[in-house]
Amino acid sequence: MRLFTIGPVEMLEEIKKIGSNNVPYFRTTEFSKIMLESDRLLKKFMGTAESSRSIYLTASGSGAMEAAIMNCFSMQDKLLIINGGTFGQRFTDICMIHKIPYEEIILQPGEALTTKHFIPFEKHSFTGLLVNIDETSTGQLYDINLIAEFCQRKKLYLMVDAISSFLCDPYIMDFYGIDVTIISSQKGLCVPPGISVVVLNQRIFEERVQYKDVQSLYFDFKSYIKNFERGQTPFTPAVGICMQMSKALNLIAEEGLEVHLDHIAAVANDFRQKIQNLPVKIPEYPLSNAITPVIFEKNIAYKVFQVLKEKYDIMLNPTGGILHDRVLRVAHIGNTDVEDNKELIYYLEKAIRDVNSHD
Ligand SMILES: *Cc1c(COP(=O)(O)O)cnc(C)c1O
Repeated sequence: MRLFTIGPVEMLEEIKKIGSNNVPYFRTTEFSKIMLESDRLLKKFMGTAESSRSIYLTASGSGAMEAAIMNCFSMQDKLLIINGGTFGQRFTDICMIHKIPYEEIILQPGEALTTKHFIPFEKHSFTGLLVNIDETSTGQLYDINLIAEFCQRKKLYLMVDAISSFLCDPYIMDFYGIDVTIISSQKGLCVPPGISVVVLNQRIFEERVQYKDVQSLYFDFKSYIKNFERGQTPFTPAVGICMQMSKALNLIAEEGLEVHLDHIAAVANDFRQKIQNLPVKIPEYPLSNAITPVIFEKNIAYKVFQVLKEKYDIMLNPTGGILHDRVLRVAHIGNTDVEDNKELIYYLEKAIRDVNSHD
């Protein structure tokens, strides 16, 4: 089965090989060293200072989103959430559960985030802004300049879910004054699910996190931060995934981050060029390099997904909600290149023909 999915992704052979090894015992200086080295590379690729604190959670990305909110905000805050799809909605769901007041910028399907969306909120006061910089459900890459400028002017903490954008699009945490970045192993890092990382800058750590009374044992960041001074976590991490993550980061370091990002951009652009010959469209708003939504003229998206999966052994991302029968999403990360695009387009065209001939 060939995966063109956003996560899990088609993995490199080097990463798969580590998955077949024994998982090492982890309360050792050797394992600590691997974690500290991973952390140094992670911060370098993220464009943040060594003084930022990373929390390595054994949880999926949503667990890290919830933990980040629990450790940074409370019922006394007022947050602005950019809600342009299922992951923006997840932020609002978390705030609702934790009774944290919020307002939303809700985007309609196909709508790009622009300056005009912020105007109604200019006179309101907020303490923080939450955004999924690539809203993976639509593939929209929001304009970080626009968001960072609003946060700086209004003096808000900025929390960015970069789960599907980090290591796929350029990302410079400190330059944009981003206080919190959330990532997850199965997306841009291209390793299996299991580890998510929350990176806090010095400011939010000192002003908030270090004093925060968190009503949770497992998700209290203070013990993670203390333990990580020596490269350890308070609880057993997904050790095997940590080993694969270390390899993935080192491979990018050898290749160079820029070369790595250029490759993904080239694969994405090549796909977006080639798809023009098929009876489909792609969105007009800015897209992340990670993923391309393919919009079908008729309601055949899910049928095409099934034919690709059952008949041609190719897996794409279906889309949830109202776009279920109109949109499939194709990821451009992991072990994939322009040659794979050629094959994918060939079978995509065949699958569309198969579905149409059965109507
Ligand atoms: C994948 C993803 C998540 C997390 O999803 P999990 O299934 O909990 O790992 C969160 N935000 C974005 C933008 C994502 O792409």
